[in-house]
Amino acid sequence: MPIATNKTKPILPGGTLGVLGSGQLGRMFAIAARQMGYRVATFSPDTDTPTGQVADVEVTADYTDLDAVRKFASEVDVVTFEFENVPASTASAAAENAPVRPGGHVLHTTQHRLREKTFLSQNGFPITPFRAVRSLDDVQKAWREIGPKGVIKTAAFGYDGKGQSKVATLAEAENAIASDAHVERVFEALVDFAREVSVVAARGVDGSFAHFGVVENVHVNHILDLSIAPADLPPSVANEAIEITRGIFEKLDVVGVLCVEFFYTRSGGLLVNELAPRPHNSGHLTIDSCVTSQFEQQVRAVCGLPLGATTYHRPAAMVQLLGDVWINAGGYPRWDAALAMSADVKLHLYGKHDAKTGRKMGHITAMGNTARQAAELAQKARAAV
Ligand code: AMP
Repeated sequence: MPIATNKTKPILPGGTLGVLGSGQLGRMFAIAARQMGYRVATFSPDTDTPTGQVADVEVTADYTDLDAVRKFASEVDVVTFEFENVPASTASAAAENAPVRPGGHVLHTTQHRLREKTFLSQNGFPITPFRAVRSLDDVQKAWREIGPKGVIKTAAFGYDGKGQSKVATLAEAENAIASDAHVERVFEALVDFAREVSVVAARGVDGSFAHFGVVENVHVNHILDLSIAPADLPPSVANEAIEITRGIFEKLDVVGVLCVEFFYTRSGGLLVNELAPRPHNSGHLTIDSCVTSQFEQQVRAVCGLPLGATTYHRPAAMVQLLGDVWINAGGYPRWDAALAMSADVKLHLYGKHDAKTGRKMGHITAMGNTARQAAELAQKARAAV
């Protein structure tokens, strides 16, 4: 039962935190919440989920079952999410019975690339030129105006490069929308980036702000493969990334954790790529390397508690463990060999049953005296399994 519903009062340990979504982000949130003495309830269409395995309550219902969403919200003190692609109506239904943090307006803006880019450009945040494309005519016009090289992305429900095509010629651009010319898409000018970096940060109910600095990210096949903290950037650029992040939190009025992904261009500038209104893959290394993890920070932010220190104990790196690791190891990865590499190697597995190609099954974090050393160790540990 909810023990505190007053918006201005903190939700104290003993209260119940509701999570929409049930993947690994919810799992690590639930572990942090339970460590602090909260109860956790998760809501998703699935059973025996990564989050459900460690939550107190696992509700299985469709996100569009608004009565189930209302009932769920009535039994928790606050609702947060780990999966931003829930319908806006789900967040509104939840908000009838509990505070939703971050609010539905944050979800609405960030779950749709056109709305997100429009928000960013209208508020003066730096982004690569883009055009909305809904027809062949639009694609031809966008290609002429901001092409020739670009990336065409579906406006909604895209993640890990799904629904994306890189294009370099008009024929490629036309082909990219050939399967369904009526789907809402965005044509973005290709960014010639030197590095991809991100800032995970949190904002409390009282407007306080804390960030985990700038993390460098390397993607393989559009999926985050390696994160390194701190990123190797000139201090002025790192400060700029943090100030842009702070500005986005203020303008969007975020309460909770959000990640801003950036391109650091070869000409030395920063462009915002996208926003994730929740803890982020690039913040997983904070569990082992920071005073407060991104997940504990989410708990604190959505409960109206003071934010924790984001200081790093050591430089760190994270490598993703995809289902391919299991497939390549004949079903039995040698975790002992990974841990034998160094006592600075930490293993996190998400409790997913089917190891499929490209599926995020876990991660390894390694600490080092420098970020590069940590990155080498994390990669060696993964190779050893
Ligand atoms: P996204 O889903 O938008 O984060 O895109 C996934 C990955 O595709 C990014 O992390 C980049 O590596 C690449 N990418 C996306 N958009 C662009 C762009 N406009 N220019 C260059 N690379 C891009």
